[in-house]
Order: sequence, then C-alpha cells, then structure tokens
Amino acid sequence: MGETSRSGVTFEEAHAEMRARAVDLASEPVPLESLAGRALAEHVRARIDHPAFTNSAMDGYAVRAAEVTGGAPARLVGESRAGFPFDGTLGPGEAVRISTGAEVPEGADAILRREHAEEDDAGNVVARTTPVAGTFVRMRGEDVREGQVLLPAGHLVAPHEVTVVAAAGHAVVSCERRPRVAVVGSGDELVRPGGKPGPGQIFDSNRSGIAAQARAAGARVVASILVPDDLAATEAALREALEGSADHPTPDLLVTIGGVSVGRHDHLRPALAAVGVREVLYGVEIRPGHPLWLGVRGEQLVLGLPGNPVSAVVCFHAFGRELLGRAEDWETLLPMGAAYVKDTPRTELLRCREADGALHPLPRQGSHAITSLAGATHLAVIPAERTEVAAGERVRVCRLA
Ligand code: AMP
Ligand code: MG
Repeated sequence: MGETSRSGVTFEEAHAEMRARAVDLASEPVPLESLAGRALAEHVRARIDHPAFTNSAMDGYAVRAAEVTGGAPARLVGESRAGFPFDGTLGPGEAVRISTGAEVPEGADAILRREHAEEDDAGNVVARTTPVAGTFVRMRGEDVREGQVLLPAGHLVAPHEVTVVAAAGHAVVSCERRPRVAVVGSGDELVRPGGKPGPGQIFDSNRSGIAAQARAAGARVVASILVPDDLAATEAALREALEGSADHPTPDLLVTIGGVSVGRHDHLRPALAAVGVREVLYGVEIRPGHPLWLGVRGEQLVLGLPGNPVSAVVCFHAFGRELLGRAEDWETLLPMGAAYVKDTPRTELLRCREADGALHPLPRQGSHAITSLAGATHLAVIPAERTEVAAGERVRVCRLA
C-alpha cells in the first residue's frame, strides 16, 4: 500500500483496499448471554454428539418392530422418560413406555406412537399399525458429530444461533473484541430528528443510521458528535473523537459524515489533516457515494462518508463493514426482475428488493431519495462498463438485510 493518496479508484479497488485495512482485533471470552451480535474468534465445535443419545421422536412405546407386527402383544416392562432412561435392555416380546426425547432402550428398534397402540388389562401393548425398524427413532449423532464445526471463526452470531452454541455445550466462547466506532456528523443545516426543522434545515438522519449499521456490524459506538460547518469546531470535534475523553474510549474507526467535498463549507479534509489523519484514498467511481474518503492515523482508521443519506448508508455497507472486519459476500448472483438503464459511467450500487428470487430496483435511485432504502433487501452491483442490464440477467449482489 503506497504512502500517497489514491483517487478515482474503482469500486473493486476501493473494496479491496478496505478489506486489506480491516481492524485487527484481539479476542476475549464472551458468555452466552452476551453472544448475540458478536464475531467468533474461533470455530464453535460440538462438544458431544447431537442427539447425545438415541431417543424417541414421539410419546409411545419402544418395541422391536418385527415382534409387534400383526398385533402381537408386547409386555410392558418399564418406562423411559426425559432425564430418566429405562434401566436395562429390552428383551424379546417386551415394550417400554417412552416419552419424546427420552432414551431408546438397548434392544428396541422402533417407537410405536401412543395414538397407534393400546394397552390391555394384562399389562401388554398392542400395535394398531405396522412399525418398521427406525420408526420415530432419532439416532445418536445423526444431526452433529462430536468435534464438528457448527459456526466458523469470523462468523457474526445471530440471536437464533445462540441456541446452537449452547446446544454444542459451550457456556463461553472466544470472540473478537468489539471494534469501537465514533461518528462525527457535520452541517449547519442539521436538526435532531424529533425537533422542528427551521427554514433550510433538515433532519440529521445519518448519525443515528450509521451508528445502527455499525452496531449491526458488531461494533460498539463510543461517541456521536454533530459539528457545525466551521473549521475550528470541526478540528476540535475530530480531535475529541479520535483521542477519546472522560466519556468515551478511543475508537478503532472514526466515521465522518458529509463535509468531505470541495465546497466552501466542507471542512472535513483540512481538519482531518490538521489532527494528523493521513489521506489514503479520496473519490471512488461509484454511484451513489463518489466523494468517499479513507484516512489513517496510527492504528486508527477514518472513513469519510458522503453526506447524502443514501450515499452514506450504501458506502458504510460496502466499505465501513469491511473496515470493521465484516467481509461481506459480494459474489452471489441474482436475476434482475426488470431491465435497468444506467446513465453513469461509474459502478452503480442499486438498492433492490428481492421478491420470488428476482431483484426489483426501488423506483427512485437518486442519492437524495430515501425511499430507495425503505424495504431494500440487497445492493446490486451494476458494473461500470455496462449501460444497461436486461430483465433476467444475473448480477452480483450483497445482502442489506
Ligand atoms: P455535504 O457533503 O456536507 O455537502 O452533504 C451532502 C448532502 O448531504 C447535503 O444535502 C447535506 O444536507 C446532506 N447531509 C449531510 N449530513 C447529513 C446528515 N447527518 N443527515 C442527513 N443529511 C445530511
Ligand atoms: Mg455539509
């Protein structure tokens, strides 16, 4: 990686640059109750087979299938229930009452469902169906073998996967330290959502939105600051964000929003330089998101997002996640549900909704139009060299949600 700043790079080049510069995080033990949303630092392997023992899929009777065929009675000799297996082996002509999930006794090969059997007064069970060996029997290890990898290192654990980790027998797993992110928004025109915009004012949508995206990428948001369009104030805010304060630790990644262009009131770049951030990349040939900026300050990374809400969201997804070590899949192909005409020489990252396996670009793709985010499920990559894509053509996508 060169010492000089790069500009006018392609989407793929910028993407590779971000991936190569991803934060390097130490690992720490994380208990199950805090695991959702954390990135695994090691493979999660099953500590034991699952099922741990051969068990019944139904309430009923453990039998030998061949013996009860044709309604021959089998003598009830005991019970196997959850937590209390039958103590012994099933002998010839015998049956054991069994509950769902209880261990199938040695010697039995099928479960007769309770609804498909009757108990007579002499203590026998009589089948009303013809079970075959294996009926309603869940074999030990048929789902997972001891030592099998259930979730790979690097994976971000979803809430529904906490059950998998717990079922694999782990109380604590090694996870990457959560990256710390600070957010600095800029603009004289911004008012807090919930407030009342005056003339020429708009809601500050990006700061909360980017913070939410950062958290979804596994990060801890340690600071969120809004600065007016003033060089000294911008410099002070950046210094505070980067150096930390009594209120917040230093971030691994600082994300700035807006003010990164060359307008008279865009102060981000000179202010970043003044606080010791070295520019490594400025300007990516994509739409939305052209004025994207990347800088470094020692171990700290700074991602300068364009201010337009859609550009900021798309660029954070494409680049911010990569910097946080959340390498996304950008290779999956999905067919376009409609033709699309691209009127920019840049790579376009289309906000689409996937339905019935096809991508439907949301109708307003302007970087200022927030409707292209509502309900979007994927970003579709329309390559720079293309001017249109046909309905049915497969394009590369990245999941948004
Ligand atoms: P800038 O690069 O600062 O000129 O911002 C480009 C556009 O994005 C302008 O229309 C800004 O008003 C808008 N913008 C910048 N920051 C935010 C923000 N935090 N929330 C919503 N819109 C913003
Ligand atoms: Mg601005």
